[in-house]
Amino acid sequence: MLSPRERLEAAGWVALMAAAAAFAGVVIGFSYSLAWGIAAALGCTAFFLLLYVSRLIWLISWLDAPSLDGIPDPDIKGIWGFAFERLRLSRQKAEKSTRKLKNRETRYRRTLSSLPDGVVLMKSDWKLDWCNVAAEEQLGISCESDRGRSVPELFEGSALADYLLAGRFEKPALIAARGGELSLEARLIVFGRKNMVLVTHDMTEREQLDAMRRDFVANVSHELRTPLTVVNGFLEIADMAGGGDTVTLERSHLELMREQAGRMSVLVSDLLALSRLEGKADPEADAPVDMAFLIESVLSEGRALSAGRQEITASAEGGPAWIRGSGSEIRSALMNLVSNAVRYTPEGGHIRVGWERRDGGLALSVADDGIGIEPQHIPRLTERFYRVDKSRSRDTGGTGLGLAIVKHVMLRHGGRIDIASEPGQGSVFTMLFPAERESAEQKPGQAEAPAGP
Ligand code: ADP
Repeated sequence: MLSPRERLEAAGWVALMAAAAAFAGVVIGFSYSLAWGIAAALGCTAFFLLLYVSRLIWLISWLDAPSLDGIPDPDIKGIWGFAFERLRLSRQKAEKSTRKLKNRETRYRRTLSSLPDGVVLMKSDWKLDWCNVAAEEQLGISCESDRGRSVPELFEGSALADYLLAGRFEKPALIAARGGELSLEARLIVFGRKNMVLVTHDMTEREQLDAMRRDFVANVSHELRTPLTVVNGFLEIADMAGGGDTVTLERSHLELMREQAGRMSVLVSDLLALSRLEGKADPEADAPVDMAFLIESVLSEGRALSAGRQEITASAEGGPAWIRGSGSEIRSALMNLVSNAVRYTPEGGHIRVGWERRDGGLALSVADDGIGIEPQHIPRLTERFYRVDKSRSRDTGGTGLGLAIVKHVMLRHGGRIDIASEPGQGSVFTMLFPAERESAEQKPGQAEAPAGP
């Protein structure tokens, strides 16, 4: 809206132009003739009209591509001066809000880019408009080179394309990506009338955990089923043989039932040991465990277990040393290794428990000259319930959890377990503790052999 002052000024300029035309007409008319005077007045008016029309033509072409730079000098007077001033102000406003919008969009894109979930923006015709880095990695696409391509066509023949084309977006779909390497939860969200966004969430780890949990439950059930079947079987026999209230069982049956019950209780205590290790905070690093006492106590228990079938010796090449950590956990891990060595070394074999300094840390090892392990099994030995020879493990009272326990204990102490083995030659299982776990001094009252778990 023009202010009253501007209106007055604009009217003044129009009046001035009319006066200029009239003045030119009068002066020329008086000087020459009436006809020349009218021609001069009309010429002046035509000039002013041309000026207005040329500015109107400029305005129309400017509106096609409005830019701040294209607006003429602000010094222009009259109604066009006001028009240009208004144009400049509105253009400045528009450019400011465009800048604001662009900044906001950049901020949103940056936020979307940093999301761990994949985000793919599409137009209504499924054309890829933009995607973030996570989407590129998860779906194996390139935002740059695939922009404008149809997303269902990009994933033609895959579960993702089926999900997109099925049109049932109320529920997400679980799809495999990158040749089955990843499990993704894909969800399509339609917003506005034209835009769609595909969000993908990496479920690989959760899926693997679920699979592990399922396997674990299946393994535990399987391990418990055999002894329970044996016990149940004998109880049924007793029931049928005894009749009435009398229950009679042969001694050998009772012995077998006791053995199977023992197996179940070992399995349950190993399971509890594992779950305790997983549930507890990492052991304190300020309780030194005396290596010499530890080895001595494990040695005597190992000899009792072996009952003279193998020769069990100790070597303490590393001299006196203390490890900071949980005495009961380290003892239980070492005892698992000694018990394995006894179970997998034939009569007359040798077992050596010792420790040395290696790779800047402490290496506590159990070596045997027993049956050894084929190389393909070694990477999987610390998995729960993984056994090379199932029946040998069960016959010797194994649960398949011993090495998993050792692995957990070592992880909790910042170390690892190292396995070297040669079939028919023997094996060396080493618990490697990092240098930070070594204690320079023995703390008073910590010298006793640590208690079992
Ligand atoms: P298990 O209770 O079956 O012994 P572990 O987790 O302690 O379970 O060991 C896993 C598997 O590793 C065993 O079943 C066995 O096949 C193999 N193993 C472990 N220690 C030895 C060893 N000292 N010599 C040969 N094989 C071994």
